[in-house]
Amino acid sequence: MTTLSSTKDTLPNLYDLSLADMERLLADWAQPAYRARQIFRQLYVNLADTPLTMTDLPLTLRERLAAETRLEPLTPEQVQTADNGLTRKALFRLPGDALVESVLMIYPDRATVCVSTQAGCGMGCVFCATGALGLLRNLSSGEIVAQVVWAAREMRRFAAGRQPAPANPPADDAWWTPDDLESDAPSVPQSSSASRLTNIVFMGMGEPFANYDRWWRAVEIIHDPRGLNIGARSMTVSTVGLVPGIRRLATETLPINLAISLHAPDDDLRSAMMPVNRRYPLAALLDATRDYLAATGRRVSFEYVLLQGKNDEPEHAAKLAALLRGEAGPAGLPLHLVHVNLIPWNPVPGMPLGRSERRHVLTFQRILHERGIACTVRVERGVAIAAACGQLAGGVAR
Ligand code: SAH
Ligand code: SF4
Repeated sequence: MTTLSSTKDTLPNLYDLSLADMERLLADWAQPAYRARQIFRQLYVNLADTPLTMTDLPLTLRERLAAETRLEPLTPEQVQTADNGLTRKALFRLPGDALVESVLMIYPDRATVCVSTQAGCGMGCVFCATGALGLLRNLSSGEIVAQVVWAAREMRRFAAGRQPAPANPPADDAWWTPDDLESDAPSVPQSSSASRLTNIVFMGMGEPFANYDRWWRAVEIIHDPRGLNIGARSMTVSTVGLVPGIRRLATETLPINLAISLHAPDDDLRSAMMPVNRRYPLAALLDATRDYLAATGRRVSFEYVLLQGKNDEPEHAAKLAALLRGEAGPAGLPLHLVHVNLIPWNPVPGMPLGRSERRHVLTFQRILHERGIACTVRVERGVAIAAACGQLAGGVAR
């Protein structure tokens, strides 16, 4: 049994292979290159879950693929739904027993999957459920790709069984229902006309830049127009602020979007919330961001988790504005390329922290606006099923 499974582990995982890799493998097998394109299409357009159903290939090739490669689609151990079925969180058990989660969020006109890049996370941010686990292991490229394939399949099922959408789908950008001012419940559409997976956010468990090579290979596979065909502009990576990763992303040819977790306007507070700040303090982070903006000309968003009484006071907002404008020491940033995304903290059981009240969030936002900084409040999905930002803990924290 052990021998069998360890032999299997050494076989190439099809989800790990770019199309070029697949062509090389097929060339080694004395097969023409178009066979590789057929397999790629089977994996990412037809969403085949075994080589045996790839009926446009000769039977002998299908059998060889089944014997000499691995195809390991992810089957969730559990799926939890919220928001009228438009938010779906899947729990996957990976080889070695690591648990990771992905969240599919269906909007009126698009569908986004939030993907994990590591099992657990070693960055230790004090407000994050994944951080509380520590790092269990990096995910392989194939394990990252397989989460996207799960979401693409889920969307195919959704589109097949969907009820017709209402003529005027409710807006998905309202954070509170207007007539329920004290409620934290986001306003969620009742249905959707989205028919396929359109967007990817690398904001699930883990720090993508701590697993850069495998993560980037996954990005390239997910982007390939001959497969899943997700546009670079429809992908967003979020980093805790690993400066070498930001610098490296600036040199990549695929223009994916960057979000940076800032969360505090000065080094003392940021270091207390995010140990990574001791290694890459704000001045270094802003330097890297400035260079990234100059190199790419693409907008960056700064995420700012609002913790009641810790970093959500008017003075924090004013300090944050001063920091970004270059009035606080480090040089400022080109403000037309900067966007701040406020995220009221999503509760994690056992953490002695609180979610900011609505009026504090709105005051914070107003102060940034007054100082010329674009700022929105993130609409959260799936808070009730612990599927929102920072709540993913592989079924452990609950
Ligand atoms: N490791 C990356 C990406 C995953 S976390 C990063 O830290 O950026 C995605 C976002 O969720 C980050 O901005 C993170 O700071 C934020 N987050 C973590 N815990 C949270 C919580 N409990 N409530 C709201 N946001 C949280
Ligand atoms: Fe890791 Fe991001 Fe959570 Fe920090 S916020 S512990 S970097 S997953």
